Amino acid sequence: TAAATEVPIKPAVRVEHTQLLIDGKFVNSASGKTFPTLDPRTGEVIAHIAEGDHEDVDRAVGVARKAFDHGPWPKMTAYERQKVLLRAADLIEKHTDEIAALETWDTGKPYEQVAKIEVPIVVRLFRYYAGWADKIHGLTVPADGPYTVQTLHEPIGVAGQIIPWNFPLLMFTWKICPALACGNTVVIKTAEQTPLSAIYASKLLHEAGLPPGVLNVISGFGPTAGAAIASHMNVDKLAFTGSTDTGKIVLELAAKSNLKPVTLELGGKSPFIVCDDADVDEAVEQAHFALFFNQGQCCCAGSRTFVHERVYDEFVEKARARALKRAVGDPFKVGIEQGPQIDSEQFEKILKYIRSGVESGATLETGGDRFGNSGFYVQPTVFSNVKDDMLIAKDEIFGPVQSILKFKNIDEVIERANNTHYGLAAGVFTKNIDTANTLSRALKVGTVWVNCFDVFDAAIPFGGYKMSGQGREKGEYSLKNYLQVKAVVTPLKNP
Ligand code: ADP
Repeated sequence: TAAATEVPIKPAVRVEHTQLLIDGKFVNSASGKTFPTLDPRTGEVIAHIAEGDHEDVDRAVGVARKAFDHGPWPKMTAYERQKVLLRAADLIEKHTDEIAALETWDTGKPYEQVAKIEVPIVVRLFRYYAGWADKIHGLTVPADGPYTVQTLHEPIGVAGQIIPWNFPLLMFTWKICPALACGNTVVIKTAEQTPLSAIYASKLLHEAGLPPGVLNVISGFGPTAGAAIASHMNVDKLAFTGSTDTGKIVLELAAKSNLKPVTLELGGKSPFIVCDDADVDEAVEQAHFALFFNQGQCCCAGSRTFVHERVYDEFVEKARARALKRAVGDPFKVGIEQGPQIDSEQFEKILKYIRSGVESGATLETGGDRFGNSGFYVQPTVFSNVKDDMLIAKDEIFGPVQSILKFKNIDEVIERANNTHYGLAAGVFTKNIDTANTLSRALKVGTVWVNCFDVFDAAIPFGGYKMSGQGREKGEYSLKNYLQVKAVVTPLKNP
């Protein structure tokens, strides 16, 4: 693995706020309990964070209800709401360095990645949804009969949102922006591993003029605070991103309580298909990015790399060489591509999958062990000769482990690519437009990236087929998750 330059980036960062944010104020949890958030580089404690639970969720939902029912948020003009979101975008952009440093500290992802890729996407999301705020409107409907019929697109109410640790700031933004743009109020629970960046960003949102009670941020654990949101009778809509197993739990909690509508963005085992006419060097680079980006901790990671037999040997050799060159190390250093995994649980799980790959007979091309001897670092690992029924080809590993499989023809690879309960995304590499069209239509996934991967603009909808989720987020499609449609019918006296 190439050594990165030894010049550390030194953003000035300290943890200013560790409390829950309810009704525009930082407050301790009702129980007074705290939990530590850890630095994945060392396992050391960064800060002790207020631990929210049922009582705190109940309070937060109460103030969010009030801010919804009695205003100000849904009663402000759409233009006023738009201006708040635009000012928030400006403030986040201005504080890119601090927010990126907090994110890196809490997650272990490379600082340069956060500052140059993730925060700009976050800022763009704020501006994109600010743009929608005053463009949401219903229809006049030509019904049969002497009636005038209009549809009102109204916000649903209090949105409960639960997010994971792999993209804490991005998931926070991706969830709150459409909800707020449509005029809803929010109670959001961050992941217990990564509470810091959402707290910081929420403070900026209030500085931008967000009224108290509109956005409430609860740090805490899933089975306590998370379950309290999912099952709350006064939460009108639930949006969840996380594992498929937990998605089933929250869907059940939502159904058993008040039948709140649920959007789910869950796991994946996305195919990355390299056809025999693809530009192999470009495909190697993109397949590497598709899997290793964010330490392999992406729900849409291209974790089944299918390569046509005619280019297979060349691809495997080049993929191995690329993984060997990957710069692993302290995510605060310049030039680092890969930091540590999020925590010891994920680290152990990944190493277990690597052992299973070896035991099941896949060829370990490179990597296969921890990197260094402290922190949760894993060597960039590449397996070739992977077979469809091996665990590493079926389960979501969520780590830097690339699995390369060989295929002979398009019909065969379509069937194998679709032979999974997941259906989040796919990559297709070919120069042939007909092959690209055939694959794009045949793959049962929510996103097909053709000759690219992980393109995540705010305007592009994202979501899963099958057990990868329900509903679409981002883009215009996301708005309907946060709107009710009311038909208003009035007799026409003199038609
Ligand atoms: P992971 O295994 O990657 O941590 P999870 O699906 O467990 O993924 O976590 C995603 C989010 O769901 C986190 O905020 C977590 O706290 C929350 N969560 C976990 N279990 C539950 C649960 N039983 N009810 C509600 N939320 C939960």
